[in-house]
Amino acid sequence: MSEHQSDCIFCAIVAGDSPAEIVDSDEHTITLMDINPATKGHALVVPRRHTEDLLTIGAEELVHAALAAQRVARRMEATLDPDGFNLLNATRAAAWQTVFHFHIHVIPRYEDDPLQLPWIPRGADMDEISAIAATIREGQ
Ligand code: 5GP
Ligand code: ZN
Repeated sequence: MSEHQSDCIFCAIVAGDSPAEIVDSDEHTITLMDINPATKGHALVVPRRHTEDLLTIGAEELVHAALAAQRVARRMEATLDPDGFNLLNATRAAAWQTVFHFHIHVIPRYEDDPLQLPWIPRGADMDEISAIAATIREGQ
């Protein structure tokens, strides 16, 4: 396993040096309950290997994290009777990342939970969308 970052809370949890409610683990990941849950059951899939975010995680680690998220969601589906799910990743502070060790939030949703869509859907200028799409395509 690669570099354990001494100042990283998730590395400390992976190493067993800090307590957590772990609900799933495999060779590549652990999944623990979020200490500040957005809803009942909010969990975090954390790769054992320290990488900062979506842009730096390796393909294999990302695949295993996605598979763990699905596995945990299915287990929540069987045990918590949720009405739906959100998966969320925050990459960098501008996108709300606060722990800089890649993780996927698995958030079970309930019809009566208090969460709200964090953006306001509004009409868009189709020419602008097309121009941005072209910019992204050209960057490939
Ligand atoms: P981020 O904001 O980086 O997407 O998510 C970090 C998440 O980690 C937050 O939802 C926060 O509540 C959770 N968290 C931070 N420190 C700890 C901790 O020590 N233990 C657990 N279980 N969760 C933590
Ligand atoms: Zn870490």
